[in-house]
Amino acid sequence: MEHLLLVRYGEIFLKGLNRPFFEKLLVKRTREALEEFSGAEVIRGDGRFYISGYKEEDERAVIGRIREVFGLHSVCPAVKTDKEFKTVCEAAAGKLRDALKGGQSTFKVEARRADKKYPMDSMEIAREAGAFLLDNVEGAKVDIHNPDITVAIEIRDAAYCYAEVIPCAGGMPVGSNGRAALLLSGGIDSPVAGYMVAKRGVEICAVHFHSFPYTGEKARQKVIDLAKILARSAGNIKLHIVHFTDIQTEIYQKCPGEELTIIMRRFMMRIAEKLARQDGAQALVTGESVGQVASQTMQSLYVTDSVVGMPVFRPVIGMDKIEIMDYARKIGTYETSILPYEDCCTVFVAKHPVTRPRMANIERSESVLDTLGLIEASLQKSETLLIEP
Ligand code: ATP
Ligand code: MG
Repeated sequence: MEHLLLVRYGEIFLKGLNRPFFEKLLVKRTREALEEFSGAEVIRGDGRFYISGYKEEDERAVIGRIREVFGLHSVCPAVKTDKEFKTVCEAAAGKLRDALKGGQSTFKVEARRADKKYPMDSMEIAREAGAFLLDNVEGAKVDIHNPDITVAIEIRDAAYCYAEVIPCAGGMPVGSNGRAALLLSGGIDSPVAGYMVAKRGVEICAVHFHSFPYTGEKARQKVIDLAKILARSAGNIKLHIVHFTDIQTEIYQKCPGEELTIIMRRFMMRIAEKLARQDGAQALVTGESVGQVASQTMQSLYVTDSVVGMPVFRPVIGMDKIEIMDYARKIGTYETSILPYEDCCTVFVAKHPVTRPRMANIERSESVLDTLGLIEASLQKSETLLIEP
């Protein structure tokens, strides 16, 4: 009898010619996620994977890790036995006993026979195994229609039993849908936006604008920590920490106060696009949501986007702050995001920012700045880190 995990992945994206590509990528991502567990192996089965070889006491931790991998649909802690019916029933009884510890009482058996040479058909297996469980597992009651627990028995190359199906992150394997550059602040919204895009299989690189010494080491570390959390699902993230202070100072000194934020945001976009192109990314991603602040009105977004020549995706555009916060809690970034360190935007903030910027006015204000020179100088002082989970 061997303990192992049966892992299933989504079906929709696996149709057609791309199937081998997706499956290979998904195995690769799953293996990467399991690197921290010595001995863990991923074996490809028919439309599923098996994970085995990890230490039994690590099983819950392995499951926790697997749940973070995009493209996986569910994971079942299973036992693998030979196909002798008595052995299969004993294994199923073990799984049912474990499941009953949760205080539930009713069960049914679902059987699948992939091995057509097996002497019993799936109906017989379910019926006979059900009778065995009823006789041999204390406190177990049958409920065919609405059971607390479904004990699954699959007869294939070997027999597999499980009684628990744990949902995984879903989505598509990272690397299956190109690359995008995430503008990652230390706030709540941008990590959520990055997660949402990565979940669709997009590989992420990240750009953070740092206003040293106005924003200190703790603010920098916070962004690294957020990238690290994202990397658990999004894979390794190349993080550019861009020295932004000189640009902000220059804007502050030479442009109208109420336009500071919008001009600053245009600089962020220009720099992010430049880094995105260097990294082979085809789009930018931000955590903006319509109407949340002055720089997130339709007019502001329009004026901001007009400086870039690649798509800008804003996955949380239609979400309320409360919804974004809930999402952040679910993906584990919230606690880090709410740490109270200064963000570069709060340092150089205007008292009355324009909410309906006019393109012509903004362009005129910007014309006194040496845009290219400022960007070049700021990139010279920037650093790039590789963030691993
Ligand atoms: P967040 O919670 O993501 O910080 P926010 O609601 O505070 O968003 P803003 O501060 O206006 O909104 O920022 C809007 C978006 O611009 C952010 O979601 C992020 O994508 C990008 N951004 C803002 N500040 C930075 C920064 N210092 N470095 C990188 N990107 C930033
Ligand atoms: Mg912010």
